[in-house]
Amino acid sequence: MTPHDASDGTATEICFDPSGLTPAQRTGRACVVCGKRWPAPPVRVGRVAGGGAVYACADDAPVIERARAFTAT
Ligand SMILES: [Zn+2]
Repeated sequence: MTPHDASDGTATEICFDPSGLTPAQRTGRACVVCGKRWPAPPVRVGRVAGGGAVYACADDAPVIERARAFTAT
């Protein structure tokens, strides 16, 4: 974590609970929504608590965004 991180989009990223994810999802190698590993999920949708970025399919990323909007209010 650097000071720069606080001023860009990463500060508002969704933080996923790693206990609910497979090892492949935790490391960004599988879609966090459907678990598909191929094609590799292209959309960064958040990160694991204490870990790296997690990704979703182009089709599944909007689901995450909607879920975030729903829970944020
Ligand atoms: Zn997916």
